[in-house]
Amino acid sequence: MALKYRRVMLKLSGETLMGDQQYGIDPKKLQYYSQQIQELIDIGVEVAVVIGGGNIFRGLSASQSGVERTQGDYMGMLATVINGMALQSTMEQQGIFTRLISAIEMQQIAEPYIRRRAIRHLEKGRVVIFSAGTGNPYFTTDSAAALRANEIDADIILKGTRVDGIYTADPEKDPTAVKYDRISFKEVMRKGLQIMDQAAFALCAENNMPIIVFDVNEPTNLRKIMFGENVGTLVTNEKG
Ligand code: UDP
Repeated sequence: MALKYRRVMLKLSGETLMGDQQYGIDPKKLQYYSQQIQELIDIGVEVAVVIGGGNIFRGLSASQSGVERTQGDYMGMLATVINGMALQSTMEQQGIFTRLISAIEMQQIAEPYIRRRAIRHLEKGRVVIFSAGTGNPYFTTDSAAALRANEIDADIILKGTRVDGIYTADPEKDPTAVKYDRISFKEVMRKGLQIMDQAAFALCAENNMPIIVFDVNEPTNLRKIMFGENVGTLVTNEKG
């Protein structure tokens, strides 16, 4: 079977790293993600990962308890580097070649972001983990995923979540909510559906970068997506 996507941007939120815990990193989750990524590498997919930091620190929430917003955002970005280091370490133990890149320079632990170099890593089959978000406060790691996906010319953004796609309403709150298999960027905006923050979403819509929102906890999903099966919700510029 032919691969539908050759180069993907996998967005993993920090929150999903917590597993059943209230805070921090669950090693079982790291192993699970590493195995999932390994499967993609094994079938010849080039994998870039953007990792969030919400399991450790969020600038906006911290600003409500007194930390100055910009400072809090930088703390949030550093949290993503911690997550990135943890994921890198687990992947390396599993024998996956990785490169950790940070949008904030800290060369002792991560490479600086140099676009051509990042692309070269992908071509060589290394998993590239982008950490520290965009390097700018007032953004999120969704924006980082949208930005880097466009820069490295990824075929698609795979946004792993706890739910299996985009629904007409929040399925965790409204039992009558119905899932979309496909939907257009325009329709998402018109209906005010929440997929990622608006800046990230606009960047994808403007540059025709498709997104699949899928349940990251279902182990066969990523593989199915690669071979073109209908999993989660696909967002494109075409009408749904
Ligand atoms: N952050 C930021 N700029 C970025 C990316 C992240 O300031 O480009 C900060 C922001 O405070 C955010 C935190 O880092 O709350 C963690 O990232 P995010 O909330 O996106 O993590 P996730 O929800 O994916 O776990």
